[in-house]
Amino acid sequence: MIQNIDEDLCSGCGRCESACPMDVIYLDREAKKARVAYLSDCMTCYSCELACPEGAVRVGPFKKAKPGAW
Ligand code: SF4
Ligand code: SF4
Repeated sequence: MIQNIDEDLCSGCGRCESACPMDVIYLDREAKKARVAYLSDCMTCYSCELACPEGAVRVGPFKKAKPGAW
């Protein structure tokens, strides 16, 4: 499951949003930051992590995000 999107690293390019087959991620176009919209739909496919050129997305084999990650 997606664990974290590091806002400091995110450049707002939108690649993770496009890469996600489940629409878990959406791009806040005003803030130019990727956000998680539907965490429970994540299939842990790692596409978003692989698509991010900034290394801002972390996906892990854990069922839940770490406390305080969102
Ligand atoms: S791991 Fe896959 S399903 Fe989950 S947020 Fe990333 S791209 Fe979407
Ligand atoms: S791919 Fe990475 S840099 Fe681009 S919007 Fe997503 S988290 Fe931000």
